[in-house]
Amino acid sequence: MKRKNQLNLLIISCTIILLGLFSIQYYLVRNTYELISQTYITNIKKEISPVIDSPEMDSIESQVVDELKILCLNRVKDSITVKEFHSKINKIAERGREKSQSYLKSQFKDYPLLKEIKIRIQVEQILFETNNIYDTLLKSTDKPIIILGETSNGKAFQISSGITQSSIEREKDSINAEINYFYKHHQSTCIDISNFQSKIWEKMKWILIAAVILILFVIFLFFWMYRSLIKQKKIAELKTDFANNISHELKTPVSSLSLAIKSLKIEEINQNPQKLKELIAALERQSNRIQSLTEKVLESSDEYKIQLQKMDIILFLKGIISDFKSDRHTLKSELEPTNLFLNTDYYLLERVLQNLLENAQKYSPNASEIKLKSHIYNSEFIVEISDNGMGISPKEQGKIFDKFYRIPEGNRHNIKGLGLGLFLSKNIMESLGGSITVNSKLGKGSTFILKIPII
Ligand code: ADP
Repeated sequence: MKRKNQLNLLIISCTIILLGLFSIQYYLVRNTYELISQTYITNIKKEISPVIDSPEMDSIESQVVDELKILCLNRVKDSITVKEFHSKINKIAERGREKSQSYLKSQFKDYPLLKEIKIRIQVEQILFETNNIYDTLLKSTDKPIIILGETSNGKAFQISSGITQSSIEREKDSINAEINYFYKHHQSTCIDISNFQSKIWEKMKWILIAAVILILFVIFLFFWMYRSLIKQKKIAELKTDFANNISHELKTPVSSLSLAIKSLKIEEINQNPQKLKELIAALERQSNRIQSLTEKVLESSDEYKIQLQKMDIILFLKGIISDFKSDRHTLKSELEPTNLFLNTDYYLLERVLQNLLENAQKYSPNASEIKLKSHIYNSEFIVEISDNGMGISPKEQGKIFDKFYRIPEGNRHNIKGLGLGLFLSKNIMESLGGSITVNSKLGKGSTFILKIPII
């Protein structure tokens, strides 16, 4: 399978695993919320049950219920109208609420928890049975009648429910048949806890924090794994590129060498001093080329040993300029100041300048001009090498100093190289306490700037 497909598969699997983990976490957090809520309500119920089940509350409740029974009986017997029934039922409930509230308030001292919760006992359905004929005086779908405690709009939890029923009256009708009146109602006790949700979230604080940390940790792990995979992929690509580049680089000098050796064996050439001289020069050039390539590769994995010496840097630059030989380019220079003595490693500096001049030639068209300028700025000696070549896009400018990096686009790979020159130059400049930067515009040319501290 191709690396790109492997990466896509990895991303998809990680996303599925993450989604699965999210769902499990969500399910666990939800269940914990339910469990903690139930335990909390059960504990509250236990704490306030002495008040709710107290003889005082029982007596208020039975008074209200007795009044309700009578009222319902009157309604069933049609002694009162529906309107009267409703207004009286509300009055009975109001009286019950008032009495129970003043009792509950009197208990605040012993049960401070009562201040935070609102208790209510409500009747949810009233039925009346007269000789097996049912009258529904309050439907279960109607608004319940709160007979004790407080009315509240908040979410209430039912903590108990039950049925109250009793035979109210027996009487004989006109033909002496017995009429039996039977009363029945459903009621429930509810509590409304203020700030219920925030109290539960507060209790779950550490569970939530742990869940979030766990998820973040897994996301970080996936991200880290993905990044190291990408890194390894890049390294693998660089290694392949490097192998290709080095064989490409060695091909010409090695084949030129073998050609020169073959020619040396030919008697006719061997006897011709002029030809012999040319062949030896070619052999020397190619062996120098191979030597410089080997040096570059070796240096890329070596530490530099810096040997400082005080020298006139302007004189040194003039030497580099006069050594510059090219049939394809001209080198112009503007050197300032006229002389300057710097304590630096001139051998390493020469390697950097050679790399930059070589690149300026490689990456600019024939007959174009290369410039070498120098001046002092902010206690630093600045050397600039400019060309009018293909230039480097801003995106690539940060990468060209990486080991083995070569810009992949365009026809640059027709130009030989190992992607080591700038990497080495950067390392050298940093070990000399200076720096190397680039200023470039795609298609216009590049300027490499060396800064050397003047100490
Ligand atoms: P190389 O051996 O490939 O030249 P370098 O490390 O010297 O390696 O340069 C890295 C890459 O930076 C090159 O492959 C090239 O794409 C780009 N580069 C370097 N110098 C120049 C320049 N003067 N103009 C345009 N591109 C350049």
